[in-house]
Amino acid sequence: MILLHNARYLVTCDPHDTVLENSSLVIHDTKIIDLGPAKEIKNSYPQAQLIDLTDQLVMPGLINLHTHLPMTLLRGVAEGVDLQGFLELVWAEEARIMDAEGTYIGARLGALESILSGTTTALDMYFHPAHNHRGAVEVGLRHVTGPVFFSFPGPDNLTWDQRMDLARAWPQTLSEIGGPYVPLALTPHCPLTVKPEHLRQIGELAIEQGAIITVHTSENIPENDDTIAAHGERPTHLLDLTGILDLKPVLAHGVHLNEAERLLIAAKGGCVAHCPGSNLKLASGAADLVQYREDGITVGLGSDGSSTSNDLDMFAVMRLAANLARLVRNDPAAITSTQIVRSATIDGATALGMADRIGSLEVGKEADVISLALNQPHLVPLHDPFTTIVYSAGRADVRHVFVAGEQVVDNRMPTKVSPEEIMSAALGHAQGQNL
Ligand SMILES: [Zn+2]
Repeated sequence: MILLHNARYLVTCDPHDTVLENSSLVIHDTKIIDLGPAKEIKNSYPQAQLIDLTDQLVMPGLINLHTHLPMTLLRGVAEGVDLQGFLELVWAEEARIMDAEGTYIGARLGALESILSGTTTALDMYFHPAHNHRGAVEVGLRHVTGPVFFSFPGPDNLTWDQRMDLARAWPQTLSEIGGPYVPLALTPHCPLTVKPEHLRQIGELAIEQGAIITVHTSENIPENDDTIAAHGERPTHLLDLTGILDLKPVLAHGVHLNEAERLLIAAKGGCVAHCPGSNLKLASGAADLVQYREDGITVGLGSDGSSTSNDLDMFAVMRLAANLARLVRNDPAAITSTQIVRSATIDGATALGMADRIGSLEVGKEADVISLALNQPHLVPLHDPFTTIVYSAGRADVRHVFVAGEQVVDNRMPTKVSPEEIMSAALGHAQGQNL
């Protein structure tokens, strides 16, 4: 039993956005079993292992709703290009270094960057999913991923039937690898690269397995145009026609959705993973976060792969999302910091179908918890914890990280892996294969 003692703020992200001051939280096994005033809690759990969080802020772990963790190995390989130029450069580089081993090495690097940045859960799409998942789980991340689908071989050189076989075996693979609970997931790349008849097969399998689906959708205008040219319909319409939209998918990016598409997505319970860092850097466009929320779409936040954004920093993503929403609306009151923090926590959990397990600090939920050190010049004075989290704090402020009750970061150091070993393996693989 672990007692996180005397946090200056406990930002719960519960339905009332409750913030407790000078309070404590108790973890037993994987779950939060109590929280409340520091003195009372300490008296109630004298046997607990106490971690003193005086001068720290405790909040739910951040949820990165769209990423490609192994692409940390491709950081910086494609600069000054749009999505199509990016894909050309990256696919060539992937063919060179992103084999199964490169995927595993990159996943470990990406997961390490994630947990040190306060991210406890990531929804991840990449080739060689078993190697990807094993690497991320070893670091301690709650890692939601599954087989990726293209209607062509791709760098992993699989036929369509082989991809479907991999997907049918995924539940077994997942249970063999172990780690914190995650739902099954199927990750078709996008409606341009996966034919409609293949999307339909993925939807049928998702129903059979109870899997969630995530898919890139309308990231930029040329993607919409190319999809119409290839398959006769816009991406969202293809997802609707093939039954995918009925399965409440997590639509990655969703930058260029028209009103009818947004209302359809909202009506069907679809969600959007908003990735402002990637969208700005590739000049893909500016998703109108406020409009999506008004339309009734659940919107979480994502970093995208670190070859587009160029890191996995969800504090940066929160700040970009907040500022972009205000700029797009020409209104500094367009969205509150509280709403942004909810997007990066409980709304992401909702999109994953995991709102009953993670995304907030409430008794009975799994203990995915992070703490930030507050006694630093850039965090003083502190008027509102939510505003501080979005506009002043950064990932270097993250001190302790728990995933499913296990401490995976202790005073900025990972507990399960060696950063030196992970970084040298990453460098060695990237350089070795490039020679
Ligand atoms: Zn992506």
